[in-house]
Amino acid sequence: MSALRNDIITCCVRLHQNAWLAACDGNVSVRTAPDTILITPQGRAKASLQPEDLVEMDAEGHAHLGSPSSEKLMHLTIYQQCPLAKAVIHAHPPIAVAWSLARPQLTELVANCLSELILAVGAIPIVPYARPGTAAMGAVLRPYLPHSRVMILAHHGALTWGESLEEAFMGMERLEHTARTLLYARLLGGWQELPPEEIEFLRAKRQTLGERIL
Ligand SMILES: [Zn+2]
Repeated sequence: MSALRNDIITCCVRLHQNAWLAACDGNVSVRTAPDTILITPQGRAKASLQPEDLVEMDAEGHAHLGSPSSEKLMHLTIYQQCPLAKAVIHAHPPIAVAWSLARPQLTELVANCLSELILAVGAIPIVPYARPGTAAMGAVLRPYLPHSRVMILAHHGALTWGESLEEAFMGMERLEHTARTLLYARLLGGWQELPPEEIEFLRAKRQTLGERIL
């Protein structure tokens, strides 16, 4: 269990070092048993967390010791809706979030010009806004689960889940990398989608690779 606590702390530090969250933003959790979730505490800077600061809660979000993250309902919704989910990461990667601010009409990040994105993730939906820390935040996610493992939360942040903490982290990494690439393309004049038959081929190939984030 202590190795797992260290892994969560390492993940928080990496999120902060990559500037995917600031100060007390974001939260990370791991399902350690069917009814037990280890999660970052409420209102603490992710860059300076210690393993003993992490809070153990049950599947209803109750903790005997400490206060779980105020976004625990978002994590619990994922664990309820996605039996395969072992880890959940919520962060505020700035370029990904900026796309939701600047392009409110987008329902997903443009995927059809990036072959590796189609192969590694499939699509990245932009989940409509709901007030952080409320039950609405959990409810708004349901239509996207369990099939989406990487999501932008409009006007807020991003959410990824995986069958391991590393998978959830890779999802966040791929999300912000994609958002950055699209931003550069936009600054250089725009992008061109791949031919429809190639998109179809890549999507079919993704089906054969399974559900995991690559
Ligand atoms: Zn947040």
